[in-house]
Amino acid sequence: MPRGPRTGLRTSVPIVSRRRCSKPSCNSPAVSTLTYVYADSTAVLGPLATYAEPHCYDLCQMHSERLTAPRGWEIVRITPDPDALKPSSDDLEALANAVREAARPRYEPGAPLPTEVPTGAVEVARRGHLRVLATVPEPDEPDDLFLDFDD
Ligand SMILES: [Zn+2]
Repeated sequence: MPRGPRTGLRTSVPIVSRRRCSKPSCNSPAVSTLTYVYADSTAVLGPLATYAEPHCYDLCQMHSERLTAPRGWEIVRITPDPDALKPSSDDLEALANAVREAARPRYEPGAPLPTEVPTGAVEVARRGHLRVLATVPEPDEPDDLFLDFDD
């Protein structure tokens, strides 16, 4: 089954089915969405997006876990709290705010210090029970995903 061309993603168009991994030669179901923030050399990996937008790419479970950033790039993984079963609309709004804040890597004076950070990740934002984690990329053998998606 052929996949649709990436160039078809122009504006916010709802996609409710047949979400597939954007990785070439991979046809697994997408479980997360990768969003590029070119201005900050940051890739935000979060829950599967409701809308397809420019510079957003769906990834399957395997490629989400294997995703690494080349030198100079940072990957921000949005990890909902495991205790949160079904996100409410407030959660989604908080998530969007967290992404926007993650695109501005700076701490507000007096902001609480990050706590309970998993190994290999740095917490950069927190909204309620949603946390934004920035993984520290390994310097060797970056995934070729970024090369594949060069415009
Ligand atoms: Zn994949």
